[in-house]
Formats: sequence, structure tokens, C-alpha cells
Amino acid sequence: LRNDQLDAWDRESFLHPSTHWGQHARGESPNAIITGGSGSFIEDRDGKRLLDAFAGLYCVNVGYGRTQIAEAIAKQAHELAYYHSYVGHGTEASVTLAHMVLERAPEHMSKVYFGLGGSDANETNVKLLWYCNNILGRPKKKRIISRWRGYHGSGLVSGSLTGLDPFHRAFDLPLSQVLHTTAPYYFRREKPEQSEAQFSAQCAADLEALIEREGADTIAAFIAEPVLGTGGIVPPPKGYWEAIQPVLEKHDIWLIADEVVTGFGRLGTMFGSEHYGLKPDIITIAKGLTSAYAPLSGSIVSDKVFAVLEQGTDTMGPIGHGWTYSAHPIGAAAGVANLKLIDELGLVENAGTVGAHLRAALAEAAGGHPQVGDVRGEGMLAAVELVADRDARRFFDPAGATAGKVVAAMRERGVIARAMPQGDIIGFAPPLSLSREEAETVAGVTAEALKAVLG
Ligand code: PLP
Repeated sequence: LRNDQLDAWDRESFLHPSTHWGQHARGESPNAIITGGSGSFIEDRDGKRLLDAFAGLYCVNVGYGRTQIAEAIAKQAHELAYYHSYVGHGTEASVTLAHMVLERAPEHMSKVYFGLGGSDANETNVKLLWYCNNILGRPKKKRIISRWRGYHGSGLVSGSLTGLDPFHRAFDLPLSQVLHTTAPYYFRREKPEQSEAQFSAQCAADLEALIEREGADTIAAFIAEPVLGTGGIVPPPKGYWEAIQPVLEKHDIWLIADEVVTGFGRLGTMFGSEHYGLKPDIITIAKGLTSAYAPLSGSIVSDKVFAVLEQGTDTMGPIGHGWTYSAHPIGAAAGVANLKLIDELGLVENAGTVGAHLRAALAEAAGGHPQVGDVRGEGMLAAVELVADRDARRFFDPAGATAGKVVAAMRERGVIARAMPQGDIIGFAPPLSLSREEAETVAGVTAEALKAVLG
């Protein structure tokens, strides 16, 4: 097919996610057909190679073009492309993957329920919570607290948990069972004089005040990403998790760690929970589980949660919750090959060391620019936040346009970063296999693009 034919079909037929549909249909926004990838690079139909410093949507953690995973998928497709996983059915791949996930998860985690993507895994989590609290005879304890700027998906419950306005506005969300509390975003704190420790204490106090106002007997869980991702790539301020967890324990509120981004190595540890000393009751996984070579997600439940689920099915029979594609054999085969590759290539360690190098290189190349307010990150996650005025801590108005221009200028220079959806934040989440030289290229191109756009 010719490029112009594909372009016409695309604009006539395809509703792309998170896209300005009118502009796209009218041909007013760019279009790209991606044809291949290798390592940290993707290639488009015109043969242009781009260093993908966002690993797709922070998911191609082992990098592009890994033949081991492709072969595992092909082998599974030849042998058995599909069978369901209901009532004890499984495949060698799905059973092996469940075992491998539990081997890597924190000690106290017990079992994994497989889904397709992060959004449906969070829908599953909320149903499991509600089910458990019915079994425990506390049917009022159902609401979930999330954070402003949290990202937990685009479904009705998961989109409600998400704390970003575009995911609520015009959809009648959030649902009434979801409440939001303060984002642990130190750089944008309201009181500039606060230390990180004071700000963390305030976040915990805000959470506790919300719990007390609404009644702890109405709150089932708190859901959070170990590092805020889509909301701006914001690592927690010092002492945040140490202040939050006791509040949850005191009020018997379960913790759901949404590790869709942080799971399987991104922070330089296998899980973000390990990195920050979290003791979650449920962990959400997706993206890095298969490095996106095939769709697969999971809800990992702790011993404590499983004990309640077991009691529930013993009294009520099989749980009424299942997806046709739960534990899809092709996703599972991709997952097994992916987790093996992460170990073989030492990618968890590489994420820690090269990630630190990337942040240092960004700080050195771009940190001095007067419109750069903050360079931050953790493991193989980084962000450069732009400000209209650094001293006055004034942000650009309207928000987003400046980062959008910088990211477009970076793309012209061969590097993909992401303009994060709320604010002027340039986000980086490269494959965990990124090399030191590639990290330096990313930093250098960022600085060049800043200069080209902002002078
Ligand atoms: N949770 C987190 C932390 C995410 O970053 C995402 C996606 O970016 C999701 C959930 C939703 O996952 P999916 O897009 O696979 O539904």
C-alpha cells in the first residue's frame, strides 16, 4: 500500500485513543505508520529511525525486536493459540507465568489473576475489594481513595480512580465510590516554605482528614502508583510512604499498589513496592509483564486477601468474574519469555544505573536552562518540568503547549519523549535496556530542542 492510501484510510476509518478526532479526520494533525523496531529504536514507513525514550507507553521494557519473545509467541500460536482459563484450565505458559510472577513479587503476595491491560486489572481489583468486604460482613466499607494526578486507567471505575480532569470531564466521572486526595507533588506544593518531610506529613494528614470526614467504615482501599506516572512522573517526597502506610493500617484500609509502570524493574528493583518498602494487599501489573509484546495484565493478591476470597467461594461458589482472554496463552508465552530475558540481560540493574546516568545527563545538559524548573525521576523514569518563571514558580498558561513544542522539536531531531498530559512536563521512560550513550543522546537532544523552542 502507498503511504497516501494508508493515510486516507486512517483518517476515514480509525478512531485513535487519546486523540483530537476532528483534527485527525480533517488531516490537520500528523500521522505516522510505525513499521519496525530494534533495541531502543523504532522505524517508520519513510525509513526514519527514532530513539524511543518513552518505550511506547512505558511498556516495551526489554526494547524492540527481541526474537526470543517473538519465537515464544509464534511457538504458542502454532501449538495452541487459545484456550480459556476458566475452572482450572490452563496452559504450560499461563501456569509457568503465574509461578514466575509470584517468585518475583513481595513475599506476602499469594496468587495472581490475569487480565488484558492495566485498566481491566484495576476493575478486577475493585470487584475483589467489594467482594471481600461483603464476605467480611462490612458492606458499607466500599469506597476507594486515589490521588489527584494518579493514573489507573480509562474504564468506568479505573477512569474514576484516575485523578486527571480529562478522564472525568464529559463522562460523569468519578463514580461516587471514588474519592481523591492530595498528590505527593513536592515541586508544585502550595506552601513553598515546606520541607519535603513537612509536605509528606501534610499529605498523610490530608488523607487522614478525608478518611475521618467520610468515615473509615466506608473506605475499603487506597490506590496509588509508587511513583506518580502519567500525572507527571513524580517520585514521592522523602518520608511520604512512611507517613501514609500507618494511616492506612490504623483505619484498616487496604493498599493497592498500581505497579503497571513500576513493576518488573523500572525503578531498578523488581517492584516499586520493594523500592519504597510498601506492603500492598493487591498489586496491579501490566505493561512490563510482557514488555507489551502481547497484551496481558494481572492482579496479585496477598495471603490476607486470598484468605477472604477463599472463604467467599467456599460459601458462595465460583466467583462471578471472568474475561474470555484471562491468561491468554499468547500473552502468557510472551510474559514467560520476557521475564526470562529481563533476568538474563540484567535489566533491573541496568534500569537503576543507566536511569541514574540519564537523570544526571539531563540535569547537566538541560537543568541550567532558565525555563527548566525541575529535573527529577527514579530508576528509568525521568521528567523535565518547564516553568514560565523559575524564581516566581510560575507555570505556563495555557499549560501543555510549550512542552508539546519541545517534544515535537525533539522528534524532529530523532528522539521520542512524551509531553505529559497535565502541565509542561517532558517525560522519559526508555526501555530498561537503554545504553549510557543512548542516555547521553536523549539528554543532548532535549537541551537542543529546549534551545530551539525557548531560546
Ligand atoms: N495503571 C497505570 C499506573 C498506568 O500507567 C496505566 C497506563 O498507562 C494503567 C493503569 C492502564 O493500563 P492500560 O492502558 O493497559 O489499560
